[in-house]
Amino acid sequence: MKKIFEKCKRKLGFVLLAFVFASAFCGNLFAATITNMRIGQQIGGVRIVFDADSKFDYQVFLLSNPKRLVVDTLSTDIKKTLTNTQNNIISSTRVGKLNEKDKRIVFDLQKPALIKQAFILQPSKNNNWRFVVDLVTTSERDFEHQAGVKNALSSKNNKASSLASKKDSKSWFTSLSKSSKPKTRQKIIVLDAGHGGKDPGAIGAHGKTYEKNITLAMSKELKALLETKGYKVYLTRSTDVFIPLRQRVKIAQKYKADLFMSIHADSAMNRKATGLSVYTLSETASDKEAAALAERENKVDIIGGVDFSENSKEINDILISLSQTDCRNKSSKFAAYMVSEMRKSIKLVDNTHRFAGFAVLKAPDIPSALLEMGYLSNKQEEQLLTQSSYRKKLATSAVSAIDRYFNDPEVAALY
Ligand SMILES: [Zn+2]
Repeated sequence: MKKIFEKCKRKLGFVLLAFVFASAFCGNLFAATITNMRIGQQIGGVRIVFDADSKFDYQVFLLSNPKRLVVDTLSTDIKKTLTNTQNNIISSTRVGKLNEKDKRIVFDLQKPALIKQAFILQPSKNNNWRFVVDLVTTSERDFEHQAGVKNALSSKNNKASSLASKKDSKSWFTSLSKSSKPKTRQKIIVLDAGHGGKDPGAIGAHGKTYEKNITLAMSKELKALLETKGYKVYLTRSTDVFIPLRQRVKIAQKYKADLFMSIHADSAMNRKATGLSVYTLSETASDKEAAALAERENKVDIIGGVDFSENSKEINDILISLSQTDCRNKSSKFAAYMVSEMRKSIKLVDNTHRFAGFAVLKAPDIPSALLEMGYLSNKQEEQLLTQSSYRKKLATSAVSAIDRYFNDPEVAALY
């Protein structure tokens, strides 16, 4: 058996060798020739297009200090580089050789930008093969995130994904410069125990259970569990104090949270209503019930003597920025994982992932979700929520969802 294997290996070696010689002698040193590069200004960013006579493999990633976009094109010959650099992101371009075959094109950035996508387009009527990289302007913080973890988009990963997690790209990756080695940064999560102090939140069916106490207990339990999994976790409050909603958002920003989760328990006129729901931010609520809930939760600040509506203009302006859209997509992704994990052991409401204008979710640059653990207005659910064993089940599912979220290659590439 072993002999056959050895024989096969030798045979394979010859085939490979023959292939290499054939390629070299036929002049096919390069898989593709880049015939032109162009750049176009778009809303919120720029698009770089490489015209080529064939498709090729690539790697795209960001480096900081100074800010750069690096595009490695594998086995390519480059005939023409960028001529027109009139745009608001890229200041200059240079082309270098990584080795005999592979090229590195470095774009110096004059402002922070994120790689939104990178992909190959097949030839069309008027175009040859094209390789497209889209950049969108972003905050310094988000740039540092994407550049800091040295993630890359590559043709081998097909989709936006973390290069560091791909075994097959390892050899290629180690051939890159030392500064582009991956670092795994500890993820920061801010948990927000809803209500507190003079604001009790919803009051249980028996009149004894206060939402503020249940949310605080759950936040502390979830924090402990997340810490055992290596996350850095902060709470917006660890005692029974009142904190205005916008202050909670500021706390998440102060700690540079990668994820923000606000924890609540619901109440309804209909005492039979039960189930868990997950909310993410939307300017338009997914239904009347969601709108009413957001209004109830947002009222807290008016109770506390601070009218949140005063500030909503400024916050709304930030909301329409591109980074918010990106952030909203990440939030939705997180909510989807929450629903998928909670479903396994917890009763959910129909259409579990809902959208509403919660003030506490309005951090423009932090993916955020609000968890309504269940209805305190329902006797059975109130009973469950007061039990630490039930909350442990909730916390365990939340941890699985958070793990899945950060391990999602599309999400990882954006951090
Ligand atoms: Zn609440």
